[in-house]
Amino acid sequence: MDKAELLNLYNSDLKELLKISSVHIKEEIELCSILNARNGKCSQNCKYCAQSSHYNTDIETFPLVDIETVKKAALDAKKNNATRFAIVTSGKTPDESDFDTMLEMIEQLNKIDGIKSCASIGILNEQQAQKLAKTGLKRFHHNINTAGSYYPEVCTTHSFEERLNTCKLVKKYGMELCCGVILGMGETVEQRIEMALTLADIEPDSIPINILMPVKNTPFENYQDKIDEENILRTLAVFKIANPNAVLRFCGGRMRLSLENQMLALKTCVDGIMIGNYLTKTGRDPVADMEMIKETGRKISCLTTSKAN
Ligand code: SF4
Repeated sequence: MDKAELLNLYNSDLKELLKISSVHIKEEIELCSILNARNGKCSQNCKYCAQSSHYNTDIETFPLVDIETVKKAALDAKKNNATRFAIVTSGKTPDESDFDTMLEMIEQLNKIDGIKSCASIGILNEQQAQKLAKTGLKRFHHNINTAGSYYPEVCTTHSFEERLNTCKLVKKYGMELCCGVILGMGETVEQRIEMALTLADIEPDSIPINILMPVKNTPFENYQDKIDEENILRTLAVFKIANPNAVLRFCGGRMRLSLENQMLALKTCVDGIMIGNYLTKTGRDPVADMEMIKETGRKISCLTTSKAN
């Protein structure tokens, strides 16, 4: 589908649009969870981010956590029905001094029956991508975040191309790719279509959808009104239509949608949810999420199913 066709769909009747996207939803909803394994002190100036050292955001900073903390968090996530678990660290790239410990963390995650290892540790070079694949990392997460044409408005310390290159390396070395966006950062509707098409080009296995949760003292602190619930639903539907095989995954900022609209999205275009806490924000009680999913009538992807993937 080209840009004009997707734009046409975006602006069509909402009910009809969601009906079209619902054709592509999967049978089961996949749950995943993350651990914020290193927080803050990032040299980059992403204008939405609480962890950037360019802004005075008053967050707790900490160095890389130990392996036991990662194991415990992964086992807790498993208890809450998560089938994937990611270690997430701040910073443009993985610190060379931490990299071997991260590889060890991945080895430990792979030993947990029913949990697939994921990592979100920044921009990779060829050698790092190769090492991660060799260690058995199942999936690497790296967002495009926004449209290429809007990227300079969001961050100037690294480029959109560097992000795309990391996505390509992940694919090159045979890992699954989780690559998504943050909506509501001031992008236009056309730029939302641009994102959907960029993702269709990259072909991620999973597309995390974040909706901006403005952070005090960042340049985007007053951007709460840049997208409303209807436009979030329209974007989700167009993303699903452009990327029918990918799992669209609700991540940070999901609670900006009413429960009614979260359920509508789960019935028509979203196939996954990140449960538990987000990076610098507290998430929703996983038990409440289970109840919500049950109400939609969709099944939760179980451990045995996901192990076969
Ligand atoms: S999004 Fe990542 S790279 Fe950008 S400031 Fe935050 S931690 Fe750093």
